[in-house]
Amino acid sequence: MSAVRTYLDHNATSPLRPEAREEMMRALDVSGNASSVHAEGRTARALIEAARTKIAALAGAAPRDVVFTSGATEAANWVMAQPWQVVLVSAVEHAAVMAPALRCGARVEIIPVDGAGRVDPEGLGELIDAVCGDGGVSVAGAVLVAVQHANNESGVVQPIAKIAEIARERGVRLIVDAVQAAGRVALDQRGQGIDFMVLSSHKIGGPQGAGALVIGNEASIDPMLVGGGQERSLRAGTENVAAIAGFGAAAAASERDLARSAHLARLRDTLERDLKRATPELIVIGGAADRLCNTTLVARPGARAETVVIGLDLAGVGASAGAACSSGKINRSPVLAAMGIGEEIGKCAVRFSLGWTTTEDDIAQCVSAWERVNKTRSGARAMA
Ligand code: PLP
Repeated sequence: MSAVRTYLDHNATSPLRPEAREEMMRALDVSGNASSVHAEGRTARALIEAARTKIAALAGAAPRDVVFTSGATEAANWVMAQPWQVVLVSAVEHAAVMAPALRCGARVEIIPVDGAGRVDPEGLGELIDAVCGDGGVSVAGAVLVAVQHANNESGVVQPIAKIAEIARERGVRLIVDAVQAAGRVALDQRGQGIDFMVLSSHKIGGPQGAGALVIGNEASIDPMLVGGGQERSLRAGTENVAAIAGFGAAAAASERDLARSAHLARLRDTLERDLKRATPELIVIGGAADRLCNTTLVARPGARAETVVIGLDLAGVGASAGAACSSGKINRSPVLAAMGIGEEIGKCAVRFSLGWTTTEDDIAQCVSAWERVNKTRSGARAMA
């Protein structure tokens, strides 16, 4: 195995940023409980509130609307556990949103996507009208629409501003999973009137096991946990101060890095160009759509993703196959199925996701590993 690793799996977890590590180390040395009035407690409180302000800035939200959770999965489950009558959920949602939607007990409608994985806002409006006109659903506070900001597999970005407008006009609530969009496109929770926005620390270079739910001004929600009254009595329990502080530092660094998104897109485009040069039959899934600057999902027909990913790993490159961030198992991706991508191509889909650590050298290493892996495969086929 190559000693120097090239890590291109930031959509699964982005490595801890030095700023986050430093802030966490400082926080670990703070001995107080953030609910205590003494100096030690106030120091812990100050760390939490500073982090809240930084995360709000990244989300385009007001600090008081940010509630800390253990991650995006918890935040999405919390919203789905509210007493909705109807939940309309896009076909390309991450399992953290889709799974709780499917078991929440409400009537569930799947919002279709086009071949690039995009929701059509006008079509969504018609679907909401049909659902609400049907069976006497009273809209106010009872209907939830779930559309992610950007997809974790393909990087395809949804027209969220327009979707938020459609939802607002109809008085339905909207949850936006902004986990992958955060730090890669500018977020505007408040400006777009998004009711619930879900964020995750470890996708932006913060620690794992921390996240947030941003709750818009007009949205209400029952508490997630009751007890000591922390987080405006919405999510009780002594805060994980170090994780929150690290999340805040990562949010500030990610916001600064928005200025580097054109650079990241250039690296991603170079990667795609050179992979295509090496294997001209390569398909870039969602390539014609508006995509995150850091993500590419490619398939070489006939080259099974698990074999390619293992070959790349042995050659020193970390990438992933399918929606591998859930279990390491490679199942058929519901996202690709919803985009109408056949099973044979879907089984060959390999995702490279770039991030704050990525350099031109990483791209060159990845291309060279790809060439070796694919040459071996072609050779093996020729011998068979
Ligand atoms: N939503 C998306 C789009 C994701 O990619 C992930 C990552 O796994 C999640 C939600 C879940 O985030 P967390 O690991 O913080 O629960």
